[in-house]
Amino acid sequence: MKIKLYGTRGSVPVFNPRSVKYGGNTTCLRIFADQILENTALVIDAGSGIIPMGNDLLKETAGKLKDVTLLFTHWHNDHTLGLFLSPITYFKSVKMKLLGPNENNIGPKEMMQDMMRPPYFPIDVREVRSKFEYINIDMPQAQVVLIHQKGLKLIDLDIYERIEMHLEDIEIEDEFYPLNEFLVIKMHRAKHPDKTISYRFEDKTSGKVFVFLTDNENEDGFSGNLKKHVEGADLLIMDAQYSRDKYISQTVGYGHGTPDYAVKLAEHCHVKRLGLTHHDPTSEDKDVDQIMEEGQRALSPNSKLEVFACADYMTIMV
Ligand SMILES: [Zn+2]
Ligand SMILES: [Zn+2]
Repeated sequence: MKIKLYGTRGSVPVFNPRSVKYGGNTTCLRIFADQILENTALVIDAGSGIIPMGNDLLKETAGKLKDVTLLFTHWHNDHTLGLFLSPITYFKSVKMKLLGPNENNIGPKEMMQDMMRPPYFPIDVREVRSKFEYINIDMPQAQVVLIHQKGLKLIDLDIYERIEMHLEDIEIEDEFYPLNEFLVIKMHRAKHPDKTISYRFEDKTSGKVFVFLTDNENEDGFSGNLKKHVEGADLLIMDAQYSRDKYISQTVGYGHGTPDYAVKLAEHCHVKRLGLTHHDPTSEDKDVDQIMEEGQRALSPNSKLEVFACADYMTIMV
């Protein structure tokens, strides 16, 4: 797998000369894996980073882009605001599958209908509706998304676990394929206001694991579900918006985490590399550097965990 980050800022995009090293786009990242066909893309979130992501994608595919699968963590504005301005949204030939949490009957379709319409936006979603397919995720912790070169499907976790235990083949479009040809995406509900999903990508071909856990606040200790979700990741990218001091004095309950907590979780779960993300809009480069150092100081003696701060346009091999 390969991950390219296009937006690592939290809450609101920023642009100032003291925040260029880490960048100012809000959350968007692209996942590259063998299971994803040429001229298609798998993307998480549509913060302002989806605008340069879309430009790169159109350039790379030179007019042949067919299909974009977009996984949303949640519907807060910083994770959706780029979608309506990204060029890929307006190319009629590009189909888009939007998957995301459904809570109180608000899922991807309702988000688009509510937000992409005048007077909030000059174009009504109905003008581009033929492009979109919507898939609600009702119970993130009890469902699994399976991606294969032949297609995508959402199944119940207990059915998936039976398949995994018995090494059964999986049906996609009336044909059966072995599990080792799939990218398996498991989910966990993050600790954040409004239903928010963390995605765990298990590449069954390479055996590598990537977990994206943003918009997640520190818990007391680590729940069993959280540990299982993060266990053994080759790469964990996790929310560390605030220093411990700022968290304690100002931001408890805001739904975001601290670097020391991310490091403790990662060490506890045998993670190899930890990238800190969702940088606070008031953090300049020097402040993000300090948050990264705070994380590095929290490492246990002899820890092998690598801790770094995520930056826009960074590419990471998993
Ligand atoms: Zn956010
Ligand atoms: Zn949020």
